[in-house]
Amino acid sequence: MTLTEKDHQYLWHPYTQHKTAQNPIAISRGEGALLWDENGKEYIDAIASWWVNPFGHSNKFIADAIYKQLTTLEHVLFGGFTHEPAIKVAERLMEILPKNQQKIFFSDNGSTAVEVAIKVALQYFFNKNEKRTTIIAFENAFHGDTFAAMAASGISFYTQAFQGMFIDVVRIPVPVKGKEQESFDALNNVIENHNCACFIFEPLVQGAAGMVMYEPEALAKLIQICASNKVLTIADEVMTGFGKTGKTFAMDYVSENPDMICLSKALTGGTIPMAITTFTQEIFDAFYDDDINKALFHGHTFTANPTGCAAALASMDLLQTGEMQANIERINASHLRFQKKIESHSKVITARTLGVIFAVEIKSDSEESYYGSMRNKLYNFFIEKGVILRPVGNIVYILPPYIMTNEQLQKVYQTIEEAIEMV
Ligand SMILES: *Cc1c(COP(=O)(O)O)cnc(C)c1O
Repeated sequence: MTLTEKDHQYLWHPYTQHKTAQNPIAISRGEGALLWDENGKEYIDAIASWWVNPFGHSNKFIADAIYKQLTTLEHVLFGGFTHEPAIKVAERLMEILPKNQQKIFFSDNGSTAVEVAIKVALQYFFNKNEKRTTIIAFENAFHGDTFAAMAASGISFYTQAFQGMFIDVVRIPVPVKGKEQESFDALNNVIENHNCACFIFEPLVQGAAGMVMYEPEALAKLIQICASNKVLTIADEVMTGFGKTGKTFAMDYVSENPDMICLSKALTGGTIPMAITTFTQEIFDAFYDDDINKALFHGHTFTANPTGCAAALASMDLLQTGEMQANIERINASHLRFQKKIESHSKVITARTLGVIFAVEIKSDSEESYYGSMRNKLYNFFIEKGVILRPVGNIVYILPPYIMTNEQLQKVYQTIEEAIEMV
């Protein structure tokens, strides 16, 4: 039996309707931007395996750091104990995060990073004896699949079975070009009519919505409105963090700072699950009290796992090299050239680029749903050609590892052009 056949017997895959889904592809090896399946077929990983892998698969530098940590101190509980790798991660992050971020809290994945931020926002007001329980989020947001993160998410595929069981969330439009004022007005209106605790957003790029982009000035204005009404702001940088937008964080483009930031995905270079939520001193101080009830009673067993911390430190080392920064610029320039070439194509609605993120919207005769037929046709075409891309409806996006070669990039572009001709 092949791995693919054995998989059937026991495994339940994410976001998968097993009755209609095709067999999963069993990957046995990865190197750089490439993956090989059990039959030796080669694939270009053009989405960095769900946006986690900037430095290439089976990266030796990160693997060495992990091995060294595993054979020194693989794990120790973080309640009542601490260790150098966690402290070093904090020190490193303080150097690169917006200056108002002063405290960091570890968890395991993007959803838990968001879960922590939302719980902290709600308890912050509880601790101050203020009744503020409404969360503000964007339309079509994606913040993860645990309950509070899911409540903040606006894509119905992920949340429809659970409507009516959520914390209070009110949505506002994303301030895409031409809709800025509508978004500002909606925010003012929500704040006036609800007891709002926080506003959570994906800064500049909504990943799961199909790489929807908006301008830093608009986000700055939304943050100002929140700040002047004492509504806490949460930048969910789980996707955008660590260089994807061309700067270390998407918030580096924005003149206003958020109160909290969520990090995961590329944090450990795609090796070990780990996440971090960061906070201002002011937020931390609202929990700092003689009263134990004001503490944050939240934690995960593997909090601040030293091996994960070692992977994060090695990843930050790699990100900050001149070579990696040059790679990010190279891919961005390449995307912009491809965008120029493709955006006038008769079957293209629009194309957009930010940092290493590129997206193109393809014309479709019918309303294209998230997992609709055009999407499946495109996906299968890409897989057949040996390129891993996961279209969102009629939107095809690229989010490559930063080490992807020019030749590999050209193959990805060419395959997308062929796909556009095909549909
Ligand atoms: C992926 C993602 C999450 C959820 O992260 P998981 O590790 O999958 O739980 C949250 N927010 C954003 C913006 C994401 O892209």
